[in-house]
Amino acid sequence: MVFLTHLHFDHVGGLVDLPVTTPVYVGAGEAQERSRVNLVLGRPADAALRGYGPLREWRFQPDPDGRFAGVLDVFGDGSIWAISTPGHSAGSTAYLVNAVDGPKLVVGDAVSTRLSWEQQMPQPVAPAARADAEASAQRLRNFAAAHANVEVFLGHQSRSEQAEAR
Ligand SMILES: [Zn+2]
Repeated sequence: MVFLTHLHFDHVGGLVDLPVTTPVYVGAGEAQERSRVNLVLGRPADAALRGYGPLREWRFQPDPDGRFAGVLDVFGDGSIWAISTPGHSAGSTAYLVNAVDGPKLVVGDAVSTRLSWEQQMPQPVAPAARADAEASAQRLRNFAAAHANVEVFLGHQSRSEQAEAR
């Protein structure tokens, strides 16, 4: 399986290395929004997804702790959580991976750079999505602040720069 944070073309290009039978998962509403984005950008995401089966969308549940717009315990064992972080795109999804060497929070472009993580820079999104984007980004920051051992992976930041993003 591949779990995508969102369907912008610069976040799906790696699919080409995987068999077309690989199930691909995205956040709820992401596939529909992609259709609109592709009208503008000339379908680069479609090119990356060509041949793969239908996109599968996460069915988020309400977060019992109220921290996020929605969450899903993907395997039911707490090992990987899909987290609804709308704003950057309609179905933007972060993933909390409880890896053997500690929890990793992969946030995609909900927060793309260390600068925006640390200085709470405004998200480069359409005005209608701005409130959602800011709320999602702040929820991720709050979660990381409450769990100091979580390693954060930002959408457009090198691995060496990620480590200090806590
Ligand atoms: Zn993006």
